Amino acid sequence: MVRELSEEMVEELQEHTGTCRFCKQIHVIGYENGDCALELIKKGMAPMEALNEQATRQCTCNEGLHYRRGIKQAEEAEEECKKLFADLPEAQAVISTSVLGLAVGKLKAISLNVETADGSVKASARRTTKGGIEMKRTAVTEEGVSV
Ligand SMILES: [Zn+2]
Repeated sequence: MVRELSEEMVEELQEHTGTCRFCKQIHVIGYENGDCALELIKKGMAPMEALNEQATRQCTCNEGLHYRRGIKQAEEAEEECKKLFADLPEAQAVISTSVLGLAVGKLKAISLNVETADGSVKASARRTTKGGIEMKRTAVTEEGVSV
């Protein structure tokens, strides 16, 4: 869902504060970061939620920093995911929504089987022990007979 925002709403947003969801510190969003919050709203996030999300991203508490690194890693993973699963939109959709969970360590691994015209493909993503995100696709071919 994409929302249209009036100039007043944009200005109001830039004067607002948000709360870090980890340490509950309150941050002024400001002009530069107001644009980031605005992007989140345009992507469909509720204004209050976007302000808190932005406050969390700019917070310097340990969890906030961990989260910010996770977002950066998730963005990179999302780009790679688009390339790796370019011909498999279902896999792309599921995995790209899971990369943030993998990046911040809330998810360990996901795996799905996607039907294709000539068999099926196993698409998977996992968090490595070193904290990286590894994505893989494996073509599944089966041969068998029954009598
Ligand atoms: Zn914080």
